Amino acid sequence: MREVVNKHIVVVGAARSGLAVASLLKRKGANVFVTDHGTIADSVKEKLNSLEIDFEENGHTTKAEQAAFLAISPGVPTEAPLVQKYLKNGKEVFSEIEIASWFNKSPIVAVTGSNGKTTVTNWLDHTWNKARREHITGGNIGYAFSDKVDQTSENSEALLEVSSFQLDHIDSFHPQISVLLNVTADHLDRYNHDFSNYAKSKFRIVENQTGEDWFIYNYDDPTIAGHVAAIKKKEDIPRLLPFSTHKDLSETDGAFVRNQNIILRINKQEEVLMPTREVKLSGKHNLSNGLATALAARASEIKSDVIRESLRTFEGVEHRLELVRTVNGVKYINDSKATNINAVWYALDSFDVPMTIILGGRDKGNDYSELVEQIREKVHTIIAIGEARPMIEEQLQSVVPNFKTAEDMNEAVRSAKDVAKRGEVVLLSPACSSFDMYDNYEHRGNEFKKAVNRL
Ligand code: ADP
Repeated sequence: MREVVNKHIVVVGAARSGLAVASLLKRKGANVFVTDHGTIADSVKEKLNSLEIDFEENGHTTKAEQAAFLAISPGVPTEAPLVQKYLKNGKEVFSEIEIASWFNKSPIVAVTGSNGKTTVTNWLDHTWNKARREHITGGNIGYAFSDKVDQTSENSEALLEVSSFQLDHIDSFHPQISVLLNVTADHLDRYNHDFSNYAKSKFRIVENQTGEDWFIYNYDDPTIAGHVAAIKKKEDIPRLLPFSTHKDLSETDGAFVRNQNIILRINKQEEVLMPTREVKLSGKHNLSNGLATALAARASEIKSDVIRESLRTFEGVEHRLELVRTVNGVKYINDSKATNINAVWYALDSFDVPMTIILGGRDKGNDYSELVEQIREKVHTIIAIGEARPMIEEQLQSVVPNFKTAEDMNEAVRSAKDVAKRGEVVLLSPACSSFDMYDNYEHRGNEFKKAVNRL
């Protein structure tokens, strides 16, 4: 932990996390200055003024360069010139979650991965509620850790969703339980288009863990498996808890499926938790997410009865494979949060009926061919929207009997209604970001829901 009292500390990036860490550092007695290369939202400016925190916008002056260290928001890339200046001068740069952790008193359960972080973090929250255990939930979702850290204590746990951008600038951040769900291509624009750079930042979640701690990871993910083989060679590593939906792991501690039952094995004690069909959330990826949740709860000594109840009752999170409505026997599913190919792959994998899929938005250099096999098998109609229309058309038009484009969500949904038959699914799972047409993925999902509710 660095001394912050009376220190000149610069926070770069004035969105949700930046504001939260600026406010935390101010509360702890630092002399805080906030800087942003763009404009700062009026609501944030008002808040900074009321906290008596100085700030500048639309560029950085020399005042931004003179701090003891830099606190960086997850939205600011490491390549940003100001960040590079600090690093080149040998000065430290810390992420918001790192700084918040200096003031934390609770054991931390930290969840990271390319997909499923929000689902699992909410699922943990649901489990902790069922167990009536004191906890805070935040990080990359809801409230930033900095906003909640003053509520931590030895008798409560901190359940945190952690992004790779937060992990890029940790130093002493130390979860007692870390969860790594999967590592698949996403955000490569922020990692020099180098997958191994991105993967490395995810593995940093275990960097400060010791033999007292737990590392829960996806055994079925080849990138993670390679990394685990490497960390096994080190000394003082966390206790390993792999989970798998298709391999019997009865030789090691962890969670897996045998004869359609979920099996947990911790400290060499094996137990049959429950039949997989009792897990309320559908989809193989959600079974994975459920295994990860169950292991984190078990490692936290939450009773199996409570874990069972949690797996039976958790209903998932809005905009993630959310059933909107059934119209004329057709299910309309909102998966607006599927902003990469892997998430769409799992969405398609979750249904065994003929489908119409709405794809598109702002393309991130996607390789849609990874979806071809599933599309051939299940999808009769693709409706492409947004800037990615030409890319999708080029890569997928020949794969489906029926390829259409639409100008907006209303048109896409109406055109889906024209082709979908009773018993089928219409799925919005775009594989793209939403910023070409919408403020964010929630906005896109809400527009889809509105259009469906108008049918
Ligand atoms: P994150 O917070 O990591 O972005 P979310 O829980 O918000 O993850 O889910 C993002 C998208 O990924 C949704 O479309 C969801 O259905 C899908 N998804 C959730 N869990 C997984 C998983 N384990 N593997 C692949 N896709 C997943």
